[in-house]
Amino acid sequence: MSDELAIEVRGLRKSYGSVRALRGLDLEVRREEIFGFLGPNGAGKTTTIRCLLDLIRPNGGTARVLGIDPQADPVAVRARVGYLPGELRFEEGMTVEGALRFLNSLRGGRADWGHVRELTERLGLDVKAAIKNLSKGNRQKVGIVQALMHRPELLMLDEPTVGLDPLMQREVLRLVAEARAAGATVFFSSHNLPEVEEVADRVGIIRSGLLVEVAETRALIGRALRRVRVHFREPVEVEVFSGVPGVAVLSEDEGLGVTLQVEGEMGPLIRRLASLPVVSLETERPSLEEIFLAYYQ
Ligand code: ATP
Repeated sequence: MSDELAIEVRGLRKSYGSVRALRGLDLEVRREEIFGFLGPNGAGKTTTIRCLLDLIRPNGGTARVLGIDPQADPVAVRARVGYLPGELRFEEGMTVEGALRFLNSLRGGRADWGHVRELTERLGLDVKAAIKNLSKGNRQKVGIVQALMHRPELLMLDEPTVGLDPLMQREVLRLVAEARAAGATVFFSSHNLPEVEEVADRVGIIRSGLLVEVAETRALIGRALRRVRVHFREPVEVEVFSGVPGVAVLSEDEGLGVTLQVEGEMGPLIRRLASLPVVSLETERPSLEEIFLAYYQ
């Protein structure tokens, strides 16, 4: 195990009966990076996180979290990790503050309560509210506060922004970035490409229980496909786009409009368009699905 790595996974395998959720997963998360773990439903993201915390046992392979084997010392791992599970369960009879104090006591009471107050205020969470009356989004906020409140070295967040409104999603991403700036490592799963782009240094793509790609986030976006719609003042032959690097014609509208697929940099296309009677230009960011397809094909 290298000291440079916060998480190191080799050949991790996990089956649920006949379902092979992890089929030999390799994964490295460096210390003090924000690593986005992306993948379609059922790819194995939650299973990976659960194995790392020894909440379930893999059938094979090895894992190290902050240098510790989670099966050998799960208590040490959990004490140093802030974990936001995908499915949160709380004691319904408690208030938010009661639930947070209870969770803090389980971790040896290490949270600084001033920090907890700051977190709840920033997320607009009423600490006096009863858990049983909380909306889904407010429950998610309690989960985020409990994951962050003891300033853990490593955050493992299973879809942290799910169920939150856009303002709160931004606030959570800011909290994640601040935790990293203070020296934490962040490992989070997501379906949401824009948020991964915004905060993650690197992204790993998991599919059918295998890590199929790891890339610097910027490189991933740069290599991905974009869709560009162009409208012309007068008809243009689509042949003008043949030979432009990375550009393919998807469809055309009697010469007055064309939909293009662009792989990689936009520069060559923009240079070609400069000499054409362009009325408007719309660029669509690739969806996560398009990026997946770009990788898998
Ligand atoms: P999502 O994005 O939908 O949360 P995920 O990437 O987190 O998906 P996992 O929850 O790890 O995926 O599931 C991986 C595979 O294992 C899926 O096929 C899922 O149906 C299956 N699976 C997960 N947990 C169990 C379980 N307790 N029993 C049986 N099968 C399970």
